[in-house]
Amino acid sequence: MKPVLIIDPGHGGKDPGGGSNQYWVEKDMNLSISLYQYQRYQQLGIPVAITRLKDVTLSPAERTKIVRDSGARYCHSNHINAGGGDGGEVIHSIYGGEDMAEEIAFELQHAGQNIRRIFTRTLPNDRARDFYYMNRDTGKVVTNIIEYGFADSRGDDIRKIKDHWQELAESVVKAFCSFCEFPYESIRTGITLKEYLRLPPEASTWRIYPLNATPVKGNEKGFLRPEKFGGLTYQILGMPQAHVYLIQTRDFGKVQIYGHPKTGATVLTK
Ligand SMILES: [Zn+2]
Repeated sequence: MKPVLIIDPGHGGKDPGGGSNQYWVEKDMNLSISLYQYQRYQQLGIPVAITRLKDVTLSPAERTKIVRDSGARYCHSNHINAGGGDGGEVIHSIYGGEDMAEEIAFELQHAGQNIRRIFTRTLPNDRARDFYYMNRDTGKVVTNIIEYGFADSRGDDIRKIKDHWQELAESVVKAFCSFCEFPYESIRTGITLKEYLRLPPEASTWRIYPLNATPVKGNEKGFLRPEKFGGLTYQILGMPQAHVYLIQTRDFGKVQIYGHPKTGATVLTK
């Protein structure tokens, strides 16, 4: 199947990228973010391609050819910035991609990253051509360059990227899905670890809600009875908002459940 999106982990091989510091090398951080997203799109059933899966050198000509030949409609080129600023930046072509850039910036902000700017830039001597080759030489593919933050930030970018790069990567997956109107289910962390929600036996009943309703009193689909079963444990299938989990139940099917820690619910990793 033709991919709808091609992910481009910036730099690689002999080119480490400038957005590096004592905690990471840009090419590796770009690859981590990209592989995370690559797996997430596959999980979500969205046809996706990637310019490199490993630490290899790609010239601008090789990289842009992979993108042009991919058949994808969109490209996201992942980068870490340098130069002393703070916050994310999303770049689009003078010929398009602004709407996607805005959606990405919106979700990055939701994930806790401030946005420095959304912009486009042309060659100084040719205002009909994009400055960045990923915008200029990727043909009909709508390419956005995403700078997740600054490696040399004096603000909080270093901590955000070092400790929360998965959440930033996830926010772009969410943005892409909502832009293209693909169904999106969030996950809380990582990819390989399975997480479970444990409802303690001290709770006699627990409210659960349909998937399309706000999980508040009055919208219940039914009640679980942890007490009756000596506690209940469900695999977490998604996390549509803070402390709200998607679980599969025997009697009510797939539902939402509210499990703030103060309710006695605990999240276990197995
Ligand atoms: Zn870069």
